[in-house]
Amino acid sequence: MVVARIVVIGGGPAGYEAALVAAQLDAEVTVIEADGAGGACVLSDCVPSKAFIASSDVVTGYRDTERFGVDAGGLDAVTVHATAVYDRVKRLALAQSADIQTKLIKSGVTFIHGHARMGAATLGHTHTVDVTPADGSAPMTVEATAVLLATGATPRLLPDAMPDGERILTWRQIYDLDTLPEHLIVIGSGVTGAEFASAYLAMGVEVTLVSSRDRVMPHEDADASTVIERVFRGRGMHILNNSRADKVRSTGDGVTVVLADGREVTGSHDLMAVGSIPNTGSLGLDDYGVAVAPGGYITTDRVSRTNVPGIYAAGDCTGVLPLASVAAMQGRIAMWHALGEAVSPLKLKSVAANVFTDPELATVGVSQADVDTGRVPARQVMVSLDGNARAKMEGFEGGFIKLFCRPASGLIVGGVVVAPRASELILPIAMAVENHLTVDQLAHTITIYPSISGSIAEAARQLMIHELG
Ligand SMILES: Cc1cc2nc3c(=O)[nH]c(=O)nc-3n(C[C@H](O)[C@H](O)[C@H](O)COP(=O)(O)OP(=O)(O)OC[C@H]3O[C@@H](n4cnc5c(N)ncnc54)[C@H](O)[C@@H]3O)c2cc1C
Repeated sequence: MVVARIVVIGGGPAGYEAALVAAQLDAEVTVIEADGAGGACVLSDCVPSKAFIASSDVVTGYRDTERFGVDAGGLDAVTVHATAVYDRVKRLALAQSADIQTKLIKSGVTFIHGHARMGAATLGHTHTVDVTPADGSAPMTVEATAVLLATGATPRLLPDAMPDGERILTWRQIYDLDTLPEHLIVIGSGVTGAEFASAYLAMGVEVTLVSSRDRVMPHEDADASTVIERVFRGRGMHILNNSRADKVRSTGDGVTVVLADGREVTGSHDLMAVGSIPNTGSLGLDDYGVAVAPGGYITTDRVSRTNVPGIYAAGDCTGVLPLASVAAMQGRIAMWHALGEAVSPLKLKSVAANVFTDPELATVGVSQADVDTGRVPARQVMVSLDGNARAKMEGFEGGFIKLFCRPASGLIVGGVVVAPRASELILPIAMAVENHLTVDQLAHTITIYPSISGSIAEAARQLMIHELG
């Protein structure tokens, strides 16, 4: 039997999940990772940010407790020890990385700590990958029947706002501060910017969020981002909409942000959250003939193939959808395909996504924009959670459930949840979209009373009157 040799470049969710699948299918697998197992997702992006948000949620628990008849001393009585919070974040990330490395090694995967790029040439059906080990040992070339490129992405930098690691920071540097910022200016109001702005605000930090668009989270559901923006403002966040940041200067003990219209905003620290760029520049892709789209993203089809036979790509380096869950699925699909297993192409229609602000915003399936532009014919309903008994008990206002269904059949095609723990509440809608359930089926499900999920069934009930034809 000929054993397939798989080389995976990058050990994030795309790379390590692919490696586990390939090992399970008896391939000889090598993962080459420049940093640590779990990749940027585990070491500097997703896991640390959610661990940080977990600390901010603890502080949130002390907000407005008097309404519940509990005197906890108010937020002023809460002291956040920044270094303890950041140490916990980093410890948790390293522990998760170690768990993943152990799992890979137990599965028989060879894990090399080092930098990789495509080798000089193909040898018949064999690809070559050049590896520079991080421990300074001699460079080597590894041969593979198939290669997975899973190199992720890096924070985008602006030439006039270069991070110095002290006052001007990327989200990967912020956990090295030894205090909480007094006044944090967050540049960029996409998902990452909004999550950090929300968490630091909860921690008692003065926050200014600079958004180049007319609302925060411009790519999310407009009703949802409007609610969240209102909550942010109500809690005292300064939000500068339609404000493009041109320059950020460190003044030694603070920062000055210069906006395109000449206004200046001052604060103690600046967090740059203006997107990411794919890590594809130093992989030797041009020489190997691997097609790369403008912006540096590797072009793939729905089974993760590039244009070069035997070379696959997955995760943030492909620009398909920057989510750990999607990266992992792209990686698994690549290996199932490369190793001759039955495989379904990547489907994005039932991918659930969540913004971990307070409140959270979760979405799945078709969007309001799809419906409004006529791309998807659908009926919709938006049920406010203000009438939900559980939301009242928990003192939560302003949330909602939105549901989209096909006009005649009532098939559920999408939904939006704005609520605490929306990330957990979106699952029934995601299952409905994935499994082609109708609003009637969802409406007939007996839900817990009292529960927020009861409002999901309520939304389905409101959509039960179908238009005919
Ligand atoms: C702040 C933040 C929060 C996020 N939160 C969430 C979330 O809550 N949920 C969610 O689903 N997604 C979240 N994401 C997105 C998620 O982190 C990414 O989609 C995910 O990391 C993509 O995985 P990946 O395997 O493609 O790449 P990565 O996780 O970036 O891993 C790629 C790895 O490849 C390595 N590498 C690069 N080049 C080479 C080379 N030449 N040789 C060897 N190794 C190399 C890098 O060192 C890196 O470790 C978040 C992103 C950010 C920025």
